[in-house]
Amino acid sequence: MEIKNTMELRLPSLSINEGFARSVVGAFATQLNPTLEEVADIKTAVSEAVTNAIIHAYPDRIGEIVISASLSGQTLEVSISDKGVGISDIEQARQPFFSTAGDESRSGMGFTVMETFMDEVTVISAPGEGTTVRMLKTIKTQG
Ligand code: ATP
Ligand code: MG
Repeated sequence: MEIKNTMELRLPSLSINEGFARSVVGAFATQLNPTLEEVADIKTAVSEAVTNAIIHAYPDRIGEIVISASLSGQTLEVSISDKGVGISDIEQARQPFFSTAGDESRSGMGFTVMETFMDEVTVISAPGEGTTVRMLKTIKTQG
């Protein structure tokens, strides 16, 4: 039986934890011998998902964010989950430039960035229950 390497990180939704979460997942992924560019892609995607959980999921309280990752062959799977406000229209939320942030502070490009840098992005969410963003990326074997 193949033994999968896995890790899980639980953090309160404090903005200071965004940088920590992206570094941890980036470090975990180095086992797959990725290029610097591939590590940067993974860190950027994780950063967008964690930032969304910090800002949107828990707009007026601190809640828990769970980041779990596993390696299977050359594929990294990473999930970012919160138990916050949830998303009512996932398809709309994933559109480029769509943002519920009322001001000009958000460009609405977070999900687009995740899709650009990862091979697959799945969003599961329900209003009042929370959101899970699951992302896959296969690291090419270095020749
Ligand atoms: P940007 O990421 O460019 O700063 P943004 O966060 O508004 O702007 P996206 O990351 O693409 O853009 O997210 C789109 C919208 O989806 C958000 O405005 C928000 O309404 C919703 N959303 C995303 N993640 C979550 C989440 N974890 N919980 C609740 N709502 C979310
Ligand atoms: Mg965002």
